[in-house]
Amino acid sequence: MKINTAEFIISNSDASKCPKEPLPEYAFIGRSNVGKSSLINMLTNHKNLAKTSGRPGKTQLINHFKINSNWFLVDLPGYGYARVSKKTKDVFQQFITDYFEKREQLVCAFVLIDIRLEAQKIDLDFINYLGEIEVPFCLIFTKADKISRGKIDAHVAAYRKALLANNWEEMPQHFVTSSLESTGRDELLAFIDDVNAQ
Ligand code: GDP
Repeated sequence: MKINTAEFIISNSDASKCPKEPLPEYAFIGRSNVGKSSLINMLTNHKNLAKTSGRPGKTQLINHFKINSNWFLVDLPGYGYARVSKKTKDVFQQFITDYFEKREQLVCAFVLIDIRLEAQKIDLDFINYLGEIEVPFCLIFTKADKISRGKIDAHVAAYRKALLANNWEEMPQHFVTSSLESTGRDELLAFIDDVNAQ
């Protein structure tokens, strides 16, 4: 897929106020600092479409971007950042769960995982939650340039093992990416193209 246009549409903290247009929607979510904004900018070929931030937990909103006038890229708040107060966290969780449980346009969630780290409980909890509510999802391993090429397969295999230990029968579809080197860009966009064509 060639990205011709990527346009910011709306930010809000109320899933019912998301755009009414019935375009297929792909949501990006992960722990704060996982590299979500960098990935969105890399995918869309924009330097600043999603705000990369030195202050994790800042973007506590659902952000809709319209891509090529035919699908929405949805940038969701990063989760699991300790400095967000308990109260803010509760609100955030409610509108995020509302989004995942009620948003009919959502066709696929991308859960971002830092390829360097062992499987984190909060990510596994979130993946299990998506399984429970039957939202289709893929994993995106980020920051692949930070480990040697030879170690990538081993890190993915370790993640698979953690998922199998969490009662998953197989590794979900996954992508290995680096925003620095544009790794995985073609594969991810081709996947979205394929799903849009179904
Ligand atoms: P977000 O909080 O998930 O939106 O994360 P950001 O996109 O703001 O990235 C967090 C930090 O990781 C920043 O310092 C980025 O420069 C860095 N980062 C993000 N993606 C990559 C990547 O693919 N490779 C490397 N080496 N650093 C990255």
